[in-house]
Amino acid sequence: MPELPEVESLKNSLAPILVGRTIVRVVVVEPRLRRRMARDFAARVAGRRIERIERRAKYLLIALAGGDILMIHLGMSGSLTYRDRNSHSGAIDRDPAHDHVVFELDDGSRVVFNDPRRFGLMKIVPQAKLETVAELKGLGPEPMGSGFNTDYLRAKARGRRVAIKNLLMDQRIVAGIGNIYASEILFRAGVRPTRRAGRLARAEIERIVRFTPEVLREAIGVGGTTFNDYMDGRGREGAFRPQVYDRAGEPCPRCGVTLRQVIVGQRSSFFCPACQK
Ligand SMILES: [Zn+2]
Repeated sequence: MPELPEVESLKNSLAPILVGRTIVRVVVVEPRLRRRMARDFAARVAGRRIERIERRAKYLLIALAGGDILMIHLGMSGSLTYRDRNSHSGAIDRDPAHDHVVFELDDGSRVVFNDPRRFGLMKIVPQAKLETVAELKGLGPEPMGSGFNTDYLRAKARGRRVAIKNLLMDQRIVAGIGNIYASEILFRAGVRPTRRAGRLARAEIERIVRFTPEVLREAIGVGGTTFNDYMDGRGREGAFRPQVYDRAGEPCPRCGVTLRQVIVGQRSSFFCPACQK
């Protein structure tokens, strides 16, 4: 499931080719995504110029001329890929049966939203209402911004019995972190995923806060992680290799002790029993 680094990589791959282009036509083949797309979606998007592309949490936000935002979430298996006028790349066109939405641009190129499991989301929101839209309202700070700091996380963890990994994955606490990066951050910080958030020492919170942007930036730098089927706007897979995620039974890359798996909040978590206390 794409997390912040994957959506950021998607943004970085699409922005240079899409900003300034006009969407001339939208073909909605299958409107039944996580929620049904609005009936007037295509009509509201057609004819609009793309002014900029941003990201908030795991949402891609495409700003259209006239003040609307095209908001996209990839769900479990979604992809948004660019095809130039002549491109029929086999790698990108691997699953045309699940091409649900096609955006045709003014130079003959296209952007295709493909989503086999249809947990994705696509909607139009007026710019002025963006902060209050249900999906974004109540989200915590961005983990690479100044709002996510030791004092903040300490205040949020205080008195909480929840496992620290679940706290990091709680989008109301901090936005954009999912199962893969929560595991990686806690490994670097030397904290077990099962520890109760309220029992962590200040130094441990400090390390988590310090390693969070470090892990995320490292992943963004190599285009994110391709665990199942993530690809960026150019059809490229991410090259980030998790050190502990999905590596139970393998030796810890730092100390060689066998990595373990534990279920935390119904999700698999991975940790080193020696490096993480
Ligand atoms: Zn270790």
